[in-house]
Amino acid sequence: MKKSTLHKDTLVIHEGYDDTKHHGSLAVPLYQTSTYSFETAVQGEKRFSGEEAGNIYSRLGNPTVRILEERMAALENGAGALAFGSGMAAVSSILVHLTKAGDHIICSRGIYGCTFGLLGIMQEKYNITHSLISMKTEEEVEKAITPETVCIYVETPINPTMELVDLEMVCKVARKHGLAVVVDNTFTSPYLQNPIDYGADFVLHSATKYINGHGDVIAGLLIGKDADEMQKLKMTVQKDYGAIMSPFDAWLLIRGLKTLPVRMERHTANAEKILDYLKGQQLVEDIYYPFDQGNPQFEIAKSQMKAGGGLISFTVKGGKESAQAFIDSLSLIKIAVSLGDAETLIQHPATMTHSGVPEADRLQMGITDSLLRLSVGLEHADDLIDDLDSAFIALAQKHSTHA
Ligand SMILES: *Cc1c(COP(=O)(O)O)cnc(C)c1O
Repeated sequence: MKKSTLHKDTLVIHEGYDDTKHHGSLAVPLYQTSTYSFETAVQGEKRFSGEEAGNIYSRLGNPTVRILEERMAALENGAGALAFGSGMAAVSSILVHLTKAGDHIICSRGIYGCTFGLLGIMQEKYNITHSLISMKTEEEVEKAITPETVCIYVETPINPTMELVDLEMVCKVARKHGLAVVVDNTFTSPYLQNPIDYGADFVLHSATKYINGHGDVIAGLLIGKDADEMQKLKMTVQKDYGAIMSPFDAWLLIRGLKTLPVRMERHTANAEKILDYLKGQQLVEDIYYPFDQGNPQFEIAKSQMKAGGGLISFTVKGGKESAQAFIDSLSLIKIAVSLGDAETLIQHPATMTHSGVPEADRLQMGITDSLLRLSVGLEHADDLIDDLDSAFIALAQKHSTHA
């Protein structure tokens, strides 16, 4: 495994790119091409046989996309990375790579809605079963393992309740039983958490979120700690499934990624100010943020995350009606799903991102009707707090007229 001595702040700007090989172009060029010409028939033969390295066809590799992949591998302390057309394409590709009919997967409870949907398809069509567990203790993980188990799939922090999974503990159990560990690291970005350092085999991102950071691309990335296995994945599932990233999207991601450290620091600083503000609000019941002193999992947060990041969930008094009235009163903060953009976004998981989850399951995950998820953006914190404050004042008036 190659571990660069440069800081992440430098890697996001330089890793994987040598401008002297691209006419001195300071910005990474966009190779918007589907195919590549060979100088001779024999060169084409050698490219196909693998005897000579080089480009063949953009589904099998593209120079712009490759620079992004190398940069991401370095940022996650992995040995290789692959770019996909969406976060879900990365999720489905790694699960297809790791499983065969009849296998079993262990997942953290409260995984991303479409990942949950994909597990349902795999179960129905290929009898690949799964167990959703809280992953709170070593014993619970041990108990869920069956002779058919092949991998453990983890999300931490879990969307939208911000519950954490102890990565070191899960990876230790997995190693003991020879199971692969896959971590969806979308919520923290590679700047705040690197699961491979704790023993994970694969890390994936919906690059749509913090990695791009500008809300204008759908994309996914998968990083692995074994270079040979990543190469195999590239030439099998990725090539034949075809869920690749377009060169233009890779180019936008390379551009967005340069400011990831700066953005994550600002997202976190804004989130911390909003956390303090929310704590003083009478209409707020519970607040969920990993780096909150009051969080019972604060020790786990500190042991595996550099900072708390930009996502805060909280509940307002008065249930669904209050939650919806509150977000309708906001003006600067937009009502939208997705996260990690420059704009601050708020959504109501019970009726939006998690509306497809049966109510009993949803409540068991802690997603009540009064829960809201805030993706804190990059605006001035005071302006965001003013917007929240106007909405709380409006909500208090509504409560008092109803009382
Ligand atoms: C958005 C998201 C995904 C899916 O990514 P897409 O880019 O929308 O396909 C997967 N996991 C998490 C945690 C996400 O937030």
